[in-house]
Amino acid sequence: MTALNASSMTAQHSIAIAIDGPAASGKSTLGAALAQKLGYLYLDTGVMYRAATLAALRQGISLNDETAIGALVQRICIDVQPPHVSDGRQYTVLLDGQDVTWDLRLPEVEAGVSIVSAYPSVRAEMVRQQRQIAHQMNVVMVGRDIGTVVLPDATVKIYLDASVEERAGRRWREILSRGESANYEDILAGLRARDQLDTSRPQSPLRPAEDAIIIDSTHHTAEEIISLCYNLVVTQLKQKAAKLSGPHGS
Ligand code: C5P
Repeated sequence: MTALNASSMTAQHSIAIAIDGPAASGKSTLGAALAQKLGYLYLDTGVMYRAATLAALRQGISLNDETAIGALVQRICIDVQPPHVSDGRQYTVLLDGQDVTWDLRLPEVEAGVSIVSAYPSVRAEMVRQQRQIAHQMNVVMVGRDIGTVVLPDATVKIYLDASVEERAGRRWREILSRGESANYEDILAGLRARDQLDTSRPQSPLRPAEDAIIIDSTHHTAEEIISLCYNLVVTQLKQKAAKLSGPHGS
């Protein structure tokens, strides 16, 4: 995977901000804004699972065939790059060189991604790639298992939550704002199903890390959450830096 900010690849002790939470809780908006303010790489790991799902669908592989999908993720190249087109995207995702950024939001990908992401062989490969990136540069990484599994030593861990009704409303408005049509009840049912799969799977289920700061965004605007989290991250980074440079620091 190509990183968004290759200039910082020389960082020896990279800083990682982990953001986890359920679908449509505002993680991507928060992650992208924090990364921009801090000058870190932004990586939304959900796109990697979505790209694997899209690849399986396009190659006619059954989403129930774990062995075939495990082999598929070893063959495909998922590349997340800075946005190539100014159409509201936060990044460009290339699947074997082809721009699939918006295809990752297709209903069939949305419906299938939690099946694919539950496979241990798929997770192992995605986690390997994600750790490699975080090792090389300062990163804001967004997903479901970043604080618990991918980067258990992340410098700051945030778990962003919101009621499922609020999340469905946000997703619905987001789709309408792109000029597409959507049904609120369908979105709500889809999110409930995805929450159920993501929280109950045996492999890396969605849950807050023990040392995560849990934030409920239900009654807050995106700007409020960004400002709150930015202040929180800056405070924690300063505290950690002071500890390291203090008389008793290592
Ligand atoms: O965040 P997003 O909705 O794009 O994620 C799509 C799906 O990918 C999630 O519902 C989840 O099943 C899976 N996922 C995951 N682990 C991550 C990120 C996403 O299992 N770190």
